Amino acid sequence: CGIFAYLSYFVEKDRRYIADTLLNGLARLEYRGYDSAGIAIDGDAENETVIVKQVGKVSALRALVDESELDWSKTYTTQTSISHTRWATHGKPAPVNAHPHRSNESNEFTIVHNGIITNYKELRTLLTNKGYSFETETDTEVVAKLLKYVYDSQRGQHISFQDLAKAVIKELEGAFAFLFKSVHYPGEIIAARRGSPLLIGIKTSENLAVDFVDVEEVTNSVAASSINEEKAPAYAKRAQSRTFTRADGSSQPLEYFLASDPSAIIEHTRRVLYLEDDDMAHINGAGDLHIYRLRRDDGLSSIRSIKTL
Ligand code: GLU
Repeated sequence: CGIFAYLSYFVEKDRRYIADTLLNGLARLEYRGYDSAGIAIDGDAENETVIVKQVGKVSALRALVDESELDWSKTYTTQTSISHTRWATHGKPAPVNAHPHRSNESNEFTIVHNGIITNYKELRTLLTNKGYSFETETDTEVVAKLLKYVYDSQRGQHISFQDLAKAVIKELEGAFAFLFKSVHYPGEIIAARRGSPLLIGIKTSENLAVDFVDVEEVTNSVAASSINEEKAPAYAKRAQSRTFTRADGSSQPLEYFLASDPSAIIEHTRRVLYLEDDDMAHINGAGDLHIYRLRRDDGLSSIRSIKTL
């Protein structure tokens, strides 16, 4: 029902701050109604994700988070964390059915989802036949497992997070807003939507004024898109009148707040970018944001401008 994520780059944040930011974001989404809530944050090692989830109010989740024996002083200069309030559609309200969902016991892929995957039964059967077992009754869990299945099927050959996500989303029917996080792609996040709202709040230093993000058609191999000007040669040509400046290199503090609703973002930044249906955003380990179109639709704009809330 509600999605909130907090990503920070080139700025030191401790785990207490990160968890509080998520819990406060979820509390802002409470008015929409929900039956359970959960968070996934970075662990102590690079290849670790910690999930905490609970039925009931965000305050119940907060209590469970506070009780957990995490090192609250642990700091990160880059981190990605995701969270969710659930309104159950498939599977009763229960801690195990709460989001984030995971690919396997070691949390290789963790995801949050709003909406309904209508073909989840077929996917569940397919994955069961491949040897996967399911721990929840939700439609969402198949997506986490499918990420691992496609990732593993590369047999060690590198696949980018965005190509992996595209391959998985291609298999899905129904409505969704998703966030994907993975220990295999530290610092990276995938956000995608079809039929459910999702927006990205961008908080930058004054020297890094982003005005818009160019959108890359999946079918178009020429146009690159990025909030990082140096990496987007096609960008200048396509929109000469709009520029953003990055005064002194690429290591200025950058924070993202992704949410299903602006009410969770506004306390952090007023600069937001609304994803459209069939947009997939990828934020890489350096905090660069790219947007891809999952389906071709010439009626849609090829830029997403940054709006002010
Ligand atoms: N269909 C998913 C579930 O039941 C997501 C529900 C939601 O949008 O909160 O877990």
